[in-house]
Amino acid sequence: MKPPPLSYSRPHSLDEALDLLAEHGDEARPLAGGQSLVPMLNHRLSRPGLLIDIGAIAQLQRMERTESGWLIGATVTQRRLERDGTGGCDLLRLAVPFIGHRQIRARGTVGGSIAHADPAAELPAVALTLDATMVAAGPDGEREIDAASFFVGPYMNSLAEGELLSHVVFGEVPPTARCSFREFARRKGDFAVAGVAAAVATDDGSVTDARLTAFAVGSNPVRLSAAEGVLAGRSIDSALADAAEAAAAEIEPWDDIHGSAQYRRQLIATLTKRALQDVAP
Ligand SMILES: Cc1cc2nc3c(=O)[nH]c(=O)nc-3n(C[C@H](O)[C@H](O)[C@H](O)COP(=O)(O)OP(=O)(O)OC[C@H]3O[C@@H](n4cnc5c(N)ncnc54)[C@H](O)[C@@H]3O)c2cc1C
Repeated sequence: MKPPPLSYSRPHSLDEALDLLAEHGDEARPLAGGQSLVPMLNHRLSRPGLLIDIGAIAQLQRMERTESGWLIGATVTQRRLERDGTGGCDLLRLAVPFIGHRQIRARGTVGGSIAHADPAAELPAVALTLDATMVAAGPDGEREIDAASFFVGPYMNSLAEGELLSHVVFGEVPPTARCSFREFARRKGDFAVAGVAAAVATDDGSVTDARLTAFAVGSNPVRLSAAEGVLAGRSIDSALADAAEAAAAEIEPWDDIHGSAQYRRQLIATLTKRALQDVAP
């Protein structure tokens, strides 16, 4: 199938893009890498009258370390993250290779993946783990949205009409933290059936900072706060089984054609265990 007729615009500044959004309202749709939007257009699941291609806006392509963490512009490609990395235990770099295939990552963007808010996507899970701040640009300037408030349902984010995701600031983990990214998919490159992101710091064998996120097991990625609590102050080895059990109990997965809720609980327990084994000192 092909999309219905539509107009196309490629502004060179953020202001120009925001003016177009303000002028055309919900008739307009930002186009980033097109890896999710173009299939939706072709299947006529989305029928915008105007595509605003944000790929030529230099301001959205920044990638730099700031005092609050790594600032990644919305149109930085997933492949660039994979190639350049962000240092430290680099959860972003661990997660990106799980996104589709290299050709897809060469076009797909960080902002597109986060704005699209697919519950099975990797980057929203990393954003939640690293307590990222999403920065929205709109007619009244910039607005910060924390990761926990950004994802409001499957394929839904909390951007207001007329706003664009400008950049994301991914928080830093303690210098001693080790990271792991584990997911189960039927074939390499498929979306995850379930996955776990982990960043855990220890001191003298005891956990001082634990961040665990499950994804593809509900409407949004979810921090495994019960499992994080189980780990606090203990050695990873001694808490491994309890943390995995807590993780499986605290998610609210659903049944779909890829697996039952019960299957996903078991997957999360296993993936949590493996991620924790990866980060054990
Ligand atoms: C075969 C295949 C396999 C894939 N596998 C995976 C996978 O395993 N994991 C995964 O996470 N993804 C996967 N994807 C999706 C891919 O990673 C996309 O890159 C990503 O979902 C969207 O990024 P994009 O830059 O292509 O955005 P687009 O497709 O251009 O846009 C997606 C949506 O976000 C909106 N949008 C884009 N940028 C902004 C912005 N700055 N501000 C506000 N709204 C914006 C668009 O209007 C649109 O609604 C796969 C895609 C394909 C084709």
